[in-house]
Amino acid sequence: MCEGCRTAPSPKMDRRNFLRLGSVGLAGAVLLGTTGGRVLAQSGSSLDEEFRSASDEYGVPQELLLAMGYTNTYWEMPPPTATAFEPGNVHGHGTYGVMALYQNPSRDTLGRAASLTQSSEEELKNDRAANVRGGAAVLADMAGSPKPDNLDGWREAVAEYGGVDFYAVEVFQTLKDGAQATISTGESLRLVPREVEVPALATSRSTSRAANTDYPRAEWYPAARGNYKNSEREREGSPNINMIVVHTVEGPVSSGISTFQNPNSGVSAHYIVGDLGRVVQCVRHEDVGWHAGHLPTNRHCIGIEHGGKSAERATWTREKMRASARLAAYCSKQHSIPLDRKHIIGHNEVPGCPNPGGGGISCHTDPGPHFRWGEYMDLIKRFRRRM
Ligand SMILES: [Zn+2]
Repeated sequence: MCEGCRTAPSPKMDRRNFLRLGSVGLAGAVLLGTTGGRVLAQSGSSLDEEFRSASDEYGVPQELLLAMGYTNTYWEMPPPTATAFEPGNVHGHGTYGVMALYQNPSRDTLGRAASLTQSSEEELKNDRAANVRGGAAVLADMAGSPKPDNLDGWREAVAEYGGVDFYAVEVFQTLKDGAQATISTGESLRLVPREVEVPALATSRSTSRAANTDYPRAEWYPAARGNYKNSEREREGSPNINMIVVHTVEGPVSSGISTFQNPNSGVSAHYIVGDLGRVVQCVRHEDVGWHAGHLPTNRHCIGIEHGGKSAERATWTREKMRASARLAAYCSKQHSIPLDRKHIIGHNEVPGCPNPGGGGISCHTDPGPHFRWGEYMDLIKRFRRRM
């Protein structure tokens, strides 16, 4: 089992290039990465047209596809390696493209899309229009016949699509709030807010208390038993906790939950914080999560993931920053973790990297350039003073 959570080996250049691409705004660019030296370009259709055409072909509401695409990747089409399945890599979910089609030892909606659309798996991974069409086909197939006659009726199919109920919460929250973005190809999209009901979470605060989460505000979504080390940290003769490592999921919160619950992933973190400040706990503090890619760090730290992408400024909502800081303050008080940047670090600062800070090919870059460290540390100190 992957106790060490080895750092991701090459080929990681595509992943890192994608993370760097982010919201830099390559206006007009169509290059989305390379695979085997082949340049990937879009066929010339606009993303808006691709959503519309997939919606018409498979009878899925266009706004629902838009909400899913925004929830998955903020409408960016990542290269296939960005979150390719990789056991032991906390960001290797096995999701592909703007529609986040899954292909890992536990789920294969990519294969299902290939048989439904007659597109090859390579096309689905590389070509945005094919990926959008594949996502629509899978969702329509999951909804069955007759199709739901209103947006709310699609919730079950959306939850099935994401593999965890939490995905429907995120997609319907996006539908309710609306979204707007100019993506790295220069295309601008807008999703007008819709009157939908955001599904209630399967776990409530009362059940999470029954599950005995360490953090009272957290909801309990336990990681698979083989994805962390059962331990007795903070007890006599056991390792202590003296660090917090900050991550981005590189996908929505639900893709983090799905990865931690996938018995084949070999990874987990203690917490995931979402856009509206929702906190999910997946591993108890006393147990060792596998997320840092460095065993000595994992052994002594608490891992806090954040839904979203390190390359996207939109990841760091006010609510998420505050909720994460409140959580970090709580953990620091519980375990006497010093409030400084030696003890509260980013995944990119974990030792063991050939060139910490993003220089080595096997290094992670999250939480990325848009994470506001100064504000985060100030918030943690402020919350801690009130505790
Ligand atoms: Zn990370």
